Amino acid sequence: MEKTVRVLLDREKIEYAGILPFSECRVINPGLLERSWRGGEVQSVIMLSVPYRTGDFPSRNLSLYAVPRDYHLYFRQLFSHLEKELAQTFPGYTFKGYADHSPIGETYAASKAGLGVIGDKFQLINEKYGSYTFLGEILTDRVFEAYDTREPTFCSHCGACARACPVGEGCLSEMTQRKGELTPETEELMRKTGTVWGCDICRTCCPMNDGAARTPIAFFYEKPTPYLTSEAVEAMSEEEFLERAYSWRGRKTILRNLFAFEKKDD
Ligand code: SF4
Ligand code: SF4
Repeated sequence: MEKTVRVLLDREKIEYAGILPFSECRVINPGLLERSWRGGEVQSVIMLSVPYRTGDFPSRNLSLYAVPRDYHLYFRQLFSHLEKELAQTFPGYTFKGYADHSPIGETYAASKAGLGVIGDKFQLINEKYGSYTFLGEILTDRVFEAYDTREPTFCSHCGACARACPVGEGCLSEMTQRKGELTPETEELMRKTGTVWGCDICRTCCPMNDGAARTPIAFFYEKPTPYLTSEAVEAMSEEEFLERAYSWRGRKTILRNLFAFEKKDD
């Protein structure tokens, strides 16, 4: 990676990053690229791995990623610095960041950029931070002198995640984020596994996550909410609520989950 890029990423405490030619990535959302990209022909992608684990919370009913404020806020702030700084460093070129909602397949590209192996649940597992990382990428029309491209690598397929999964078909994480009524089976699963949003079972049982390091990034330590109650959600101002990852489905969805979860205390 070019030293100037590395210096900018060090300032943001992003240790794992790699640059790929755009041609090495899989375009999965060409419509998004067309709508959002304003530069010349895309030539390169700077892949970023952003760790978010801040520690263990003895009492927690949210997936670990949803304990701090919404990571989309983090990426918005990060890209607003980096896009500007990169454009100043490389005048005449366009840089645009994406995270989660991306034109390219992120896990595959991240592995090709050397950021980790692809796990059986299609998550990226980093050697230091495990799968407690978010992926983001910056597209640009600049050609770099050197690239970090390598063949994608995969986990050992030990099967621990499949064996520990509490759901025969589908995924509890997705079920907690779906609108509409919860089935009695999903309500029961939420109470049994102790979650109101998301599911971390296939992460916590993965041996590659043993000893995963804590993130050095300050954003993820601010305003943590590991254990949510319906009272707390009802008391949140609109501004506070919109800062949370679970706000994307509206207050009704997370309250529906909480009411079902809290039934056990009746
Ligand atoms: S638990 Fe095993 S199979 Fe599943 S992602 Fe981890 S290493 Fe791969
Ligand atoms: S997140 Fe939970 S429900 Fe979904 S695949 Fe992993 S263990 Fe299964």
